[in-house]
This record gives sequence, C-alpha cells and structure tokens, in this order.
Amino acid sequence: MRRALLLLALAMPLAAQAEPVKVLTSFSILADMARQIGGEHIALTNIVGPDSDAHTYETTPSDGRNVQQAALIVENGLDFEPWLDRLVTSTETHAKVIKASDGVQARTMEEDGQTIPDPHAWNSLANARVYADNILKGLDAVDPAHAADYQRNHDAYVAKIDALLKVAASTFNSLPAGNKRIVTSHDAFGYLGQAYGIQFIAPQGISTEREATAADVAGLVRQIREQHIKAVFMENISDSRLLKQIAAESGARVGGTLYSDALAAEGLASTYLGFYRSNIETLGKALKN
Ligand code: ZN
Repeated sequence: MRRALLLLALAMPLAAQAEPVKVLTSFSILADMARQIGGEHIALTNIVGPDSDAHTYETTPSDGRNVQQAALIVENGLDFEPWLDRLVTSTETHAKVIKASDGVQARTMEEDGQTIPDPHAWNSLANARVYADNILKGLDAVDPAHAADYQRNHDAYVAKIDALLKVAASTFNSLPAGNKRIVTSHDAFGYLGQAYGIQFIAPQGISTEREATAADVAGLVRQIREQHIKAVFMENISDSRLLKQIAAESGARVGGTLYSDALAAEGLASTYLGFYRSNIETLGKALKN
C-alpha cells in the first residue's frame, strides 16, 4: 500500500508535465496551423469544421464548455467570429485569447453604406506568416516549457509557406493580363487579389450571411458579358446553384471549386498549405489561356 502511494507520488509530477495544453480554435484553417506549430504538446479542439461556413455558425452548449476549459483560444479576428467573442464574455473563461490576424494590414470594404474590415486575411500567404507568428507567441505564453519545440515547428512551417509563396508568384504573375478578372460566390479572395493583381467579383459581398438579390445577379451577368470575364468559381463552403446560374446566363465557364473559408475534410486541401496550393492550381489552370 505504502509502496503504491510512493509510486503514485513519483508519477504525478511527470504526468502533470506531460499533459498537453488545451487549445481551442474557431475554424479549420486555424486548427491546422495550431496543429502544425503545437504538434504533440497540444490537445486541440476546433469549432467550425472542414467545408463549413463560419460566417453563419451558431454556437452549441459544448462550445461554451470548450471555451471555459481551454488554456489558449485562437480566433481569426477582424470581426470574423462575433459568436466566439460573445462566448468568451459570457463564460468568463480564464483562457488566453489571441487573434491570429493581429498585425496584418487589414483591407476594408464598403458594404450597405458601412466600412467593414475584410476578415479573409488567410487568403494571402504573406499574412499566413503573421498568423504563424501569433500562434507561436500564444503557445509560448501558455506553455513556456515547450517554447523550443514550438519555435522549431514554427520555423519549419514558415519555410513551407515561403516555398509556396514562390509557386503562387510564378503562377499568378504569368497569367495573361486580360484573364485576371473572375467571379466567386462571396468576397473571400480580396487579399489574394491584392497580392497578384487579380480582381475578384462576388454577388454576395463579404459575408455569406447576405443573400444576393435579383438585381445583384442581373448586374453581375451584365458585367461578365461587358468585361469578357472568362470564368466563375464555386466555393467549398457555398451552395453552387447561384454560381452555375450566373455562368449559364452570362456564357462564362465554371472554372472549378476554390477553397475559401474552410479546409476540405480529406485530400490535398485538408491542410492550409494544401488548400492554398489547390487554389493556385485551380486558378492557374482555368485562367492561363
Ligand atoms: Zn467568407
């Protein structure tokens, strides 16, 4: 009996040390980044999963429990997850809350007479570096014992982002100038467009919450015809019917499916770097001639 107690006492501090730190992310892209940098030292829970739309997400009681139990909460910021901010306030969680987009140069958009930030900063690879830096800082703050491992994982990850930046630049910068205007369901690609001089046009605006009106659609069909826009792209988080209708009425072709606000459940786009690579390939193929 006494021996058993002694063994237990010896084992406990080790067990406490090995306990992974509880990290909660708001949506699939942040979940993957946190996993890449946190590795084996974190126990990750994610709220809005693959192929799902965070703009219109409705929280559940288990989200509240996860917010309360987390050591670190990683959100995008730029008003992307007002539902998570409400949960953080209402649960009075002691978790450290960080915004992965902190420090990016935010784009703003005019919508319904208001100036609002464009939350889709992850669609620029240069911003993804900022996201990785912020996640590293957050992990260091809640789990300094593993700072060296986090730094190593972070540096390896940023090297992969940099390699993909080169692929993106060579693909997008070689597109013919006349092909750099395209249509998607909602305005998720402003940061990508800004980086490579591609103009993205969307019937739905910045959030999927807003539905396109008949006048929006008619105006867009006219614009596609007048400006000879070649392709429209579906999104993995959106119903594709509106886009197909616009393609049929305007004569533009459907260029494929882009990943906008969520990873895929499996395959290439199930990690953030794969998601981005897939978008580079889809856009490059559809717009090269
Ligand atoms: Zn979006």
